Amino acid sequence: MLHTIRVIILIVGVFLPTLVMAQGIGLQDGDEAGFVNDNATAAVEPETVVAHPQSVNLGDPFLVRVTSNRPLGEVVVHWEGKSVVPSISVWNDKHVALAMLGTDVLNAKAGKKDLVITVSAEGDRSEYKRTVMIRDKEFPRQDLKLPPKMVTPPKEVLDRIARERKIIAKTRSIYSPQREWSLPFFRPVRGSVSSDYGLKRFLNGKPRNPHRGMDFRSPMGNPIKSVADGIVALVGDHYYAGKSVYVDHGNGVISMYFHLSKPTVKEGQRVERGQTVGLTGTTGRVTGPHLHLSIAVQGKLVNPDPLFVKNTDQMLEE
Ligand SMILES: [Zn+2]
Repeated sequence: MLHTIRVIILIVGVFLPTLVMAQGIGLQDGDEAGFVNDNATAAVEPETVVAHPQSVNLGDPFLVRVTSNRPLGEVVVHWEGKSVVPSISVWNDKHVALAMLGTDVLNAKAGKKDLVITVSAEGDRSEYKRTVMIRDKEFPRQDLKLPPKMVTPPKEVLDRIARERKIIAKTRSIYSPQREWSLPFFRPVRGSVSSDYGLKRFLNGKPRNPHRGMDFRSPMGNPIKSVADGIVALVGDHYYAGKSVYVDHGNGVISMYFHLSKPTVKEGQRVERGQTVGLTGTTGRVTGPHLHLSIAVQGKLVNPDPLFVKNTDQMLEE
């Protein structure tokens, strides 16, 4: 009996300190790196993966994805003077932050651009310094003929245009903390594309801003579908865009639908991917019925086209 107790004490005496020590180290923040090397089975090695494309075409949107096996505190993505804070979701036991970025054909230049990502996880803060090459792209020229009074707006509407420009700029730069969008986007109408993003536009022979959206052929009154889940941020009736709907998809992604005959949603309304937001028409400055779609990403108007054909993984490649 005594012998048995002695053996138990001996066993406990040998093993107990080891167990306590292992748990103690494992529970401490910041000790993981040293601890894992000695005892790989007692803790999961912290691993954070930052993915993004090496290069993209001028005007094209792209994604940055931070994946970690530890809960992410905050991820901040610095791009073109903006600090983007993507929402964090849990997928397959991984903690994931997904940010959409891009350049605007209006003012972007080709070349290498800095992409800096800061990741806070369980008290640690890491910084990832990367670059993305913006590839130059030659956009075709498009000549349009419009009645002179449509090219140069009459004086009495200049105040109106200035007022609307402010509202549009503000709406385009909304940043909602929760990401609602997912890829690929839903095509807003069935019609084919009549004018691509980036076209160098000439109105009656005079150079104008490039085309910063996509035009879809569509008969009058065709239903227009939201490209992704979101909340209606603005229903407007503007000089250039006519009757228009803006949907906020969260984390700095806004879709804009122009020249509607009739919006069918109200501001503040939640919409799902593929839900009708209005009907096609000819309001604003147009020559015939069509849908103009623009996508704002962190305030920049990007090429919507890749968002309809690529999934999340494909938007991280190249
Ligand atoms: Zn257009």
